[in-house]
Amino acid sequence: MAIQLDGIRTIVFDLDDTLYAERDFAYSGFDAVGRWLKERMACPVDPATRMRQLFETGNRRRVFDELLLELRCPDVARMVPAMIECYRNHFPVIKLMPDAERALARWSGSFFLGLISDGPLRTQQQKVQALDLERRLNRVILTDEWGPAYWKPHPRAFEIMERESGQSGSACVYIADNPAKDFVAPNSLGWRTVRIRRPGGVYADMSPPPGGCEQFQVQSLDEVDIRF
Ligand SMILES: [Mg+2]
Repeated sequence: MAIQLDGIRTIVFDLDDTLYAERDFAYSGFDAVGRWLKERMACPVDPATRMRQLFETGNRRRVFDELLLELRCPDVARMVPAMIECYRNHFPVIKLMPDAERALARWSGSFFLGLISDGPLRTQQQKVQALDLERRLNRVILTDEWGPAYWKPHPRAFEIMERESGQSGSACVYIADNPAKDFVAPNSLGWRTVRIRRPGGVYADMSPPPGGCEQFQVQSLDEVDIRF
């Protein structure tokens, strides 16, 4: 359902599954890991194709283990960490979701636009680079610059956004997808919070911690109308 937010000056986004689909990153990573693997062992099936199937049908945390077991790899314990490294460090082929592309075009120039994202620093930096977000946003904060203790729900990144945009929380909005951690800090600082809940999203059924419930919910950024 469409929502209208008034009195906003600063719009801050989450990254994964808010501006682009994390599934696209996974598929891009499987391509990179597949190439890496084919240089090291015989693969009777295309490993990237098989990893996509395992990702869609099985335990997402065990895609690499399952693949190696199927390939009768004698050294799973040593190979899996190397595959994770390859996956995290590859330069991703990803793109903004169409509604995110339209939202940035709609709000650019009129609002202070920011990004707050957790996750391994190099991985997140390369996503930001692939999506050209340093150029399109006023401020990008990757919380892993300070270490995992400052990942959401820690408020530090949100406080910096307030300071650098020159606004108090009441003129800020955070748009994100994960109620388990995304909304606690901005709620406590008086921000407005919008949960993007695309059909079929990973966190579609998670319930929030105390104080972590979003104030608004939409299925697409096309439904968000933001004004001064
Ligand atoms: Mg997210």
